[in-house]
Order: sequence, then structure tokens, then C-alpha cells
Amino acid sequence: MTEKKRRFVGTLPLESVFAAPLKSTSSRPKPHCRSVVQVLDYSRPIDFLSEQEPYRDRGVTKAIDVNTVFLTARRCPVGCNMCDLHQFTREDSPPVGASVEQIDFALDRLPPASWIKLYNSGNFFDAASLPTADYDAIANRCNRYDRVIVENHPRIGRGRHIEFFDKLDARLEIAVGLETVHPRLLSKIGKQMTRGDFDRYAKWMSQHGIDLRVFLIVGAPDMSISDAIRWALLSARHAARQGARHISLIPARQGAGWGNASISLPHLSLSILSELFEQALEISDRSCISIDLWEFKEEELLPDDQNRLRWLSEAILKQRTIMQDAV
Ligand code: SF4
Repeated sequence: MTEKKRRFVGTLPLESVFAAPLKSTSSRPKPHCRSVVQVLDYSRPIDFLSEQEPYRDRGVTKAIDVNTVFLTARRCPVGCNMCDLHQFTREDSPPVGASVEQIDFALDRLPPASWIKLYNSGNFFDAASLPTADYDAIANRCNRYDRVIVENHPRIGRGRHIEFFDKLDARLEIAVGLETVHPRLLSKIGKQMTRGDFDRYAKWMSQHGIDLRVFLIVGAPDMSISDAIRWALLSARHAARQGARHISLIPARQGAGWGNASISLPHLSLSILSELFEQALEISDRSCISIDLWEFKEEELLPDDQNRLRWLSEAILKQRTIMQDAV
């Protein structure tokens, strides 16, 4: 997060479940603080924030103001935990109206923006996590925006997509955690989908005029750095070929679904991630590329890496190479 990026983070009163706010969400959201200090409340969002993220399409790049609401919701039934969000979910379902109340609470406190993200730590079209009876009211709130972005698994709620989509004036974008096109790894992480499932979903979305955002991991336990980069780029190429409007590259991180194997994850420095970004940028001039920089805290870095973090953050926002940005 750079100084130039305008950012508003909602501060919740006593209902807040975290000691610190969530962080930037241009890629997959991740809590900044993992200590849950109170029981999750269905009448309040986990958190909400405003930030900028890049938009890129055939030579046109813009920074867009985006409001993000992290809804309190039921645990994702897939359970691969690549998002590391299960700890912020409940076992029961929210009552009808609760998710709308959460959105209203956040929007009352957020500034105007062009896009809105509604993340429910799982699948937006999972009726056990977000009741269909709320679709009218949620679509009504979304229609103040140009674009609404939600996350969903390819095998969940196909009919409910249309039900919600029909109520929307805003453009719908669905974020899908493909994670990787490495066949053995994709099966090992328990994603409960194949690359074919992803491809069919992407095609179906395109036929219905729904945009695609893709989350990809960079690295896995016992994978070398060069293989981590190679598979990330192969996966990004595949996502671009399937029409991804935005591709988020997320360095594999401690905790997220890896269990004890986390200790053998490759160490991906800012220099390596900067090279990955530059190579990924060349894949397609239609896909926006971002890299998740959650794990890098400026105050903990040496001066050279503080500069690299700033340059890379700026380069991502402008969708330009770092050299272009640094000169
Ligand atoms: S399918 Fe998505 S939301 Fe569900 S646990 Fe896996 S990464 Fe998280």
C-alpha cells in the first residue's frame, strides 16, 4: 500500500472481531490480524475498506476506487482453505436480511467508489452462506456501482448466478480460485475441481456476459523458486486464455491450507516477485495483473526492500514495468 493510494479503512466499534483492520484486497483478501477477540456477529461485517486497484484493457490503464465489504458468513463447504479465511466464518447460516444489514452498515461509512467487492469468505452463490431472499436488496445496493465483484467456486450455485444477475444493472465479475494449472497440485490442495471445471465455468461466464477474475498461488511446499515462477506464469497464461479480466498472483503463504508443510514453501523475495510481475504483464494486454504483497510490512524491511515494495506497488497500480515507474 503506497502513500499515494487513497485508502479508507472502516473502524468498527465493539462489534469488531479483529484487533486490526483487514488489508488491501486487489488480490485475495487476508486478515491482517488473526486473533479473533469476539464471537462473529451476523449483523456486522467482519470489516470494510476503500482502496484503489488497477484497470487495464488494451493499452488503457486506470486506477479505480473500490469499496470492499467483508461479510460475516458461513464456512465455505469446499474447505481447501487456500484463502485462509475459515477462522473468520461461522458454522450456522445467517438469517435473511443479516447480510443486507452488514452491507448497509459498511456503505454508510465508506466514501463513494466506482466498484464494490462483496467477499463472504467463501462462495457468494452458496445459499447457505448468503440467502437468495437477500438478492433483491443486495442487487439494489450494488446498482449504485459500475461493477460488483464476488467470489465463487465453479461448481456452486449456477442457477443462482442468473437469479442474481437478472437483478443487476452493474457489471458482474466473479473471482475464482483456480490456484494453479499444475494437475497434481490442483488435486492435492482439495479444491474439488479440475482445470476442465474451471474452463467450462469461464466459458459459461463469458457466454452470459460475466467477467472473470482469477486467484493463482505462486509456489507450493517443496517447490523450487524457478518452478514456482514457471507454474505461476503457465497458470496466468491459461487464465488469460480463458478470458480473465484480472489475474491475482498470490505468493503461497504460511498457514493457508498447507498445514505443517508450510515450512518448505519457497522464499519469494520482492526482487523475484518484481520479475514475476514484469513477465506476467507481457502475457496479455487485456488482463490486469496484480501480486499480493500482504506478507511485506514496510516497517520491517531494509531500505532497499522498502524501495522495491514501493516501486512494485506503484507498478501494479499503473500496470507498468518497474523500470518505467522508477525513472
Ligand atoms: S474454495 Fe475458495 S473460499 Fe472455499 S476454502 Fe477454498 S479458497 Fe477458501
